[in-house]
Amino acid sequence: MNIKCPKCGKEAYLKNYGRATGTVVGAAAGVASTTAGAAAGGKAGAIVGSFFGPAGTGIGAAAGTILGALGAAFGGGCAGHKVGELIDQDVIRKYHCPSCDHTFDL
Ligand SMILES: [Zn+2]
Repeated sequence: MNIKCPKCGKEAYLKNYGRATGTVVGAAAGVASTTAGAAAGGKAGAIVGSFFGPAGTGIGAAAGTILGALGAAFGGGCAGHKVGELIDQDVIRKYHCPSCDHTFDL
């Protein structure tokens, strides 16, 4: 969808308020829920690692915990990014013209 600036008639772009906020909030929410992800990852890692003896259990649990935590933060950030994008498109609807620096609503 091409939006034209009402001031100079050049192409304007959607401002990414929600998207930026959503990514941060989503990542934070993901980090907050990492305990669950980390615990699940740690369990899975320990099971996989246990095939390689007691040392493997420890290493597997540690690796699984880290991967589980990273996965939760990453997933949260992605979800927040998407939600923020929708908020930008449907709720905030602020556009910015890079040519004349004019900001306007639709
Ligand atoms: Zn303009």
